Amino acid sequence: MSSSSCLFCRIVAREAPAEILHETETVLAFRDIRPGAPTHVLLIPKEHLRDLRDLENAHAGMVMDLLQAAAHLARTEKVDDSGWRLVANIGPDAGQSVFHLHFHLLGGRAMGWPPG
Ligand code: AMP
Repeated sequence: MSSSSCLFCRIVAREAPAEILHETETVLAFRDIRPGAPTHVLLIPKEHLRDLRDLENAHAGMVMDLLQAAAHLARTEKVDDSGWRLVANIGPDAGQSVFHLHFHLLGGRAMGWPPG
C-alpha cells in the first residue's frame, strides 16, 4: 500500500523532492532534510510500512537490501572507517515523526551514548 498522504511514499513516487543517493528494487535512500550529523541519510522500503512492527517474513529480502544499502552508503559517504550509526525511531518516546518505516544513517562526527 502506498498513500498520497505519506510524505515518504510521495518521495518514492517522485511527487515530493529529495536528494536521492541510492535505489534498489525495494529500497530508497535520500538525505535527511534536517541533518543531525554531517552524514544523515534516510533508508526506507518503497512499500509503505508504518514501522518495524509491520515487518513479516515476506519482507526478509527487503530488510537485507536495506541493511546492505546502509553499508554501501557508509562507504560512499566516507564514514565507514570513522564509524556510523543506524537508528530506527519507533513511537512517541523515540520521537518518531514520519510514519513510514525508515532507518537513519548518521556519521561524520563523534556521537554520545545513550542517545538523548
Ligand atoms: P523520525 O523522527 O525518526 O520519524 O525521522 C523522520 C525524519 O524525516 C526526520 O529526521 C526529518 O528531518 C526527516 N524529513 C522530514 N521531511 C523530510 C523530507 N521532505 N526530506 C527528507 N527528510 C525529511
